[in-house]
Amino acid sequence: MSEAASRGHVVINTEECKGCGLCIEACPPKVLYLSKKFNTHGYHNSAYKGEGCTGCGVCFYACPEPGAITVFKRWDLMTDIRMCPHCREKHKVYSKSTNPDELICTQCLKPINEG
Ligand code: SF4
Ligand code: SF4
Repeated sequence: MSEAASRGHVVINTEECKGCGLCIEACPPKVLYLSKKFNTHGYHNSAYKGEGCTGCGVCFYACPEPGAITVFKRWDLMTDIRMCPHCREKHKVYSKSTNPDELICTQCLKPINEG
């Protein structure tokens, strides 16, 4: 299964992660792992294998750290890809219901336009 074909997608904010491993234990398809790298707080952060996420959201609810995990459901149906000025790469984008004109990069979670 490729990343594009996965039904869901998960982004870990490495600086918010404390490396407790709860999301890794909770993930049904076991697509999360503990990175060998350290974040700036000295924790091994959780990371995504890159494919196989179903978008179930279990990891999000298992995580005690607000803002450490973002889950995208219906990832395979998200087809709008734009150049992100922060990542300097092309990534899928989405818009929040509160501001449909503002596009958010699914990788860095920052706005890519003024909206
Ligand atoms: S959303 Fe579900 S499948 Fe995807 S990483 Fe989280 S627990 Fe695993
Ligand atoms: S549950 Fe949250 S804090 Fe714990 S390893 Fe996963 S992302 Fe990091």
